[in-house]
Amino acid sequence: MSRLANVLEYCATVQILPSWAQMIAAERLYGIQPDDYMALWQAQKGVCALCGGIDTDGKTRRAKCLHVDHCHSTGKVRGLLCHKCNHGLGAFKDDSALMRRAAEYIDRSRL
Ligand SMILES: [Zn+2]
Repeated sequence: MSRLANVLEYCATVQILPSWAQMIAAERLYGIQPDDYMALWQAQKGVCALCGGIDTDGKTRRAKCLHVDHCHSTGKVRGLLCHKCNHGLGAFKDDSALMRRAAEYIDRSRL
């Protein structure tokens, strides 16, 4: 069985919608193979590494593939994130100090 067929079968088994665009981009951009992606996905139990959520397809409500998150300095893959968390990190430019200031800002408003 081809690698592609293996991934398709796996996605069907765990009821996630494979995103070939994401898989191809992950392989091209980060050098991770579909099997690597699936290993990460399994290690995270199919949920976002940050919020624990999932992305779902609007029509079928089935879980969609998570985004491959990577360090923009080193290129190292950090994990799989949902759409919102992935874009959230990007909005903060991967700047952990800025993210901590944002968290403190949010917390101050709740005192
Ligand atoms: Zn998330």
